[in-house]
Amino acid sequence: DPEQVRLSADILRTLEEAGHTACWVGGCVRDELIGRPVNDMDIATSAHPEEVDALFPRTIPTGIEHGTVTVVMEKIPFEVTTFRTESDYKDFRRPEEVTFVRSLQEDLRRRDFTMNAIARGLDGKYVDPYDGRGDLERGLIRCVGEARERFREDALRMLRGVRFASVFGYELEPKTWEALLELRGNMRHIAAERIRAELEKMLGGPKPAEGLLLLARSGLLAEAKIRLTPQALESARPEQLDVLPPKPAELRWAALLQGIGVSGDEAENLLKSWTFSGGFAKSAAALLRIDARMNAAGFSTEVAAEEKNLRLAFVRCVLDFGRTAAENWRVYHSMMDKADGKSTACFQLTADWMAAIPAESPRELALGGKDIVERLDRKPGPWLGDLIRRLLEATAMGSIANEREALLENLVRIEEVPGAQK
Ligand code: ATP
Ligand code: MG
Repeated sequence: DPEQVRLSADILRTLEEAGHTACWVGGCVRDELIGRPVNDMDIATSAHPEEVDALFPRTIPTGIEHGTVTVVMEKIPFEVTTFRTESDYKDFRRPEEVTFVRSLQEDLRRRDFTMNAIARGLDGKYVDPYDGRGDLERGLIRCVGEARERFREDALRMLRGVRFASVFGYELEPKTWEALLELRGNMRHIAAERIRAELEKMLGGPKPAEGLLLLARSGLLAEAKIRLTPQALESARPEQLDVLPPKPAELRWAALLQGIGVSGDEAENLLKSWTFSGGFAKSAAALLRIDARMNAAGFSTEVAAEEKNLRLAFVRCVLDFGRTAAENWRVYHSMMDKADGKSTACFQLTADWMAAIPAESPRELALGGKDIVERLDRKPGPWLGDLIRRLLEATAMGSIANEREALLENLVRIEEVPGAQK
């Protein structure tokens, strides 16, 4: 984004005019070099946080103790981080304490991989003490300095390495890989949330299958807080993940869970324990629940003709889990069929079934609970919910129009409406 480049260049210039050193560094320099879209323009500087704060009218003290100040330029936030070293790594996690330093070289030394330890100045010159550009050309993920030391300091780096290898289609340089195999047990100290974030990036990448296979070979998560054993990963048919689109993310997560033998009912709690939001856990689990129900009903490409029982099973899924989940399942199922070399004709069929559903919830029904109670002259009770549900199913199946008169007329007969019995 040229706007971000211009604004972040303005920040660099302001810092330099005040006598500090400043540069772009890390992910943005790397991504620009390999022609990937850049998301955050991270800036590193010799200026201390309070000096950064004093130079710009709009700042947010994002992580002052870690040296990070967010500078807001024309409403766009930029993270400006003071050159620092990290010391006192405890429990194989990143340190709580950092020490500010005045030299860029020292700052680059604490970074994880050579390709992430490249800085670029306003003059367009690169500071690349570990030949990160060479490794980018070779397609190698290589630790800065001694791999064993870097992984011992922060075990998450091992998983980052696998993630970068997967997303970029690179390889781990032999010494880096060796150190990873030696220290993989330390992954058990890493919080589920940080693991989850890496896995999300991996699954959102262009080749999640290779990533999962590499993850299997690495054994990194065999005892981790998000536990994925090599055996589970290899039996999961990870190649299917590549067939699914990266978004919505539920699709690939559902495929992974299904592959490792997690049921729809188990999936929601498992994903929550992996620190996913309740909403995400629910919608990914819904996809698996729909899949299980549809399979139980006998849905497959071959039999998916105009069969009432299949359509009813689908309609019930839409009513129980909502349209979005049903949409996700349609994509999921047809992509999986495609991966297996089957026809995807059912994709259109289920679209037709879905389009024919006039009401998904009681308030979309052309008849309210009050009308029903009055017409039948019965006291409200659990029967009312059941009846409304049957009306929803009947309208969804096209047996009754979603019109007040038609619904009223059918109230008494509703038990007999084809496809409407529970
Ligand atoms: P992404 O594309 O996922 O944003 P990134 O490399 O930019 O990848 P960030 O987490 O944004 O990752 O970190 C920015 C930079 O900070 C990295 O490029 C790297 O130099 C450094 N860094 C991040 N995490 C670590 C870590 N665990 N150990 C050492 N350096 C790290
Ligand atoms: Mg980044």
